Amino acid sequence: MASSFAEKAQVAAVTATLVSAGWIVAGAFVLDRAESEQIEQEIATKQQAEREVQPVEEDDGVDATPDGKQETVSMPPETETATLVIPVLNVAATDLTDSYADERGGGTRLHQGIDIMASEGTSVVAAAPGKIERLFRSDAGGNTVYVRSDDGETIYYYAHLAEYAQGLNEGQQVRRGQRLGSVGSSGNADPEAPHLHFEVMRTTPTAKWWEPANSVNPYPLLVQQR
Ligand SMILES: [Zn+2]
Repeated sequence: MASSFAEKAQVAAVTATLVSAGWIVAGAFVLDRAESEQIEQEIATKQQAEREVQPVEEDDGVDATPDGKQETVSMPPETETATLVIPVLNVAATDLTDSYADERGGGTRLHQGIDIMASEGTSVVAAAPGKIERLFRSDAGGNTVYVRSDDGETIYYYAHLAEYAQGLNEGQQVRRGQRLGSVGSSGNADPEAPHLHFEVMRTTPTAKWWEPANSVNPYPLLVQQR
């Protein structure tokens, strides 16, 4: 734990040195994430506390069975297909706008995902099945979820959540459409414009969740117009 920041800083430095200026931004991103590692302990503590509490009744409905119990962790096997579902409940394909590669930070970087606008509290659901690799709270992304596909080569990233679904834990398998939490404006999102920031990153099975990955545009995947 203590050495992880140094390791990451080293990875970032090497990455930045090896490749072009574009990678420096990626390296800085890694550092930014690494700097937030101290918050992880807090999250771990909070998760532990939530695990211990395990409320029987939760008024969010979606992932609760009729008798109010939480869904079990193990999910029925599901055939992986290329089709993603729109990861915000009751948002239609025609409601989406392609904000991928829009300028951010005054043009210093490009938007790596799309923003799906919805009112605060709307359910965020998994666009695709996979395993929850990280529930991470970052300065920029707020409450975020990293879900890795079963083949290990894709990470689905959900950011700015108001809160996580009850019982959601790292290492948990999620099925497509499973509730992950709710739309909010945590992190650097505008509280006046709550939304889900959704990103699809192509990576390698051995790459860590925080390592640079190639983002692809989720928009055509979500509207299924490849
Ligand atoms: Zn965004």
